[in-house]
Amino acid sequence: MSRFWSKTVQQLTPYVPGEQPKLTQLIKLNTNESPYGPSPKALAAIQEANSDLLRLYPDPNSDALKQCIARNYQLTANQVFVGNGSDEVLAHVFLGLLKHDQPILFPDITYSFYPVYCKLYDIAYQTVPLNHEFAIDIADYLKALDGKGNGGIIFPNPNAPTGRALPLADIRALLEKNTDSVVVVDEAYVDFGTESASTLINQYPNLLVSHTLSKSRALAGLRVGYAMGHPDLIEGLERVKNSFNSYPIDRLAMAGAIAAIDDGAHLASISAAVIKSREALVSDLNALGFQTIPSQANFIFTHHPQHEAATLAQALRERHIIVRHFKQARIDQYLRITIGTDEQCAALVKALKEILA
Ligand code: PMP
Repeated sequence: MSRFWSKTVQQLTPYVPGEQPKLTQLIKLNTNESPYGPSPKALAAIQEANSDLLRLYPDPNSDALKQCIARNYQLTANQVFVGNGSDEVLAHVFLGLLKHDQPILFPDITYSFYPVYCKLYDIAYQTVPLNHEFAIDIADYLKALDGKGNGGIIFPNPNAPTGRALPLADIRALLEKNTDSVVVVDEAYVDFGTESASTLINQYPNLLVSHTLSKSRALAGLRVGYAMGHPDLIEGLERVKNSFNSYPIDRLAMAGAIAAIDDGAHLASISAAVIKSREALVSDLNALGFQTIPSQANFIFTHHPQHEAATLAQALRERHIIVRHFKQARIDQYLRITIGTDEQCAALVKALKEILA
């Protein structure tokens, strides 16, 4: 605390990202990065952009990237917004598209950055509990609405950290009823087996869908995310962005992102490999007595009825395997484990066998 801090800063509770350890000899299954490298075409494009042109500012509107995204999702460029990671995109969404005078709604167990943005921008919120199976129940949002209205609704699909996905029909049902505020579907993990709501954008002017290159495109280090929605929503986000940072996408990120998004074959092969390893890991862990929530993401959420999750996480750490444990009500007996390569998953299972024995 410093007397030079503004009142706003004094009252913040910053988001704590998963650890990025400096040690290299670790099996790192704690922040949902890809165990496989990015598209070789993206790496080549970044190499090529690494030139004398870096003395010039990038295109402030990232037009070529927006056109690439539009092309890949059958949209138009004015339906696309891009930012420095989807966290930045979401920050602008909270400031620009979620109302500040009525509570916004999100699940009690969800991406822990949402309440941080609410605090930063002084946005009222109400959490809607996941049901007993840790699933989002759309009926609960409609009930919460009942005659009161809300400032907007946001949830990840699949949800984080549970990995559970909602079918598109549920999202459509929510959009049919909730027409007076923005519904944001955070699809950070959509490519690992969930149907994207991006196909509904032309039907619902209050739907915004956000994506990231950090997971299925294996480019967490490049920091690129995007949102897709009605041009009016995008214009609102541009107003925020142009009041904050004119150049969120640098020249290297722009070149790499375009090549990565155009490389559908690489995306398909990474996602298929992760899904295959996920199913194998779930069955190996369940054979050890773990109970695992069905996941459509590149991570699983699991617990062991006879063993404290925090103790397991610590014991894994001592064996140089890092997983994520949240000290939060309802989920403090769970571990969130990123899907690694088959070798990493095998090392995890072997370590857990030893720990449980
Ligand atoms: N949404 C969800 C649900 C996430 O888990 C993450 C990753 N922490 C993000 C958004 C942000 O990802 P990025 O900023 O790397 O695009």
